[in-house]
Amino acid sequence: MIETLTCPACGMGITPKDAPATTVHDAQTYHFCSTICRDAFVRDPGSYVGNTGS
Ligand SMILES: [Zn+2]
Repeated sequence: MIETLTCPACGMGITPKDAPATTVHDAQTYHFCSTICRDAFVRDPGSYVGNTGS
């Protein structure tokens, strides 16, 4: 069983150990399929995380 995640920027499936880029936002680690997606996320995390509060 391989643990898989979804790249929060583009929705592509990735495995954490193969993720070429990561960042920490709001005390949570996010894994990305590429540094391009990581950079896009870092620029505007709110539009990906949907941090509207609940
Ligand atoms: Zn991506």
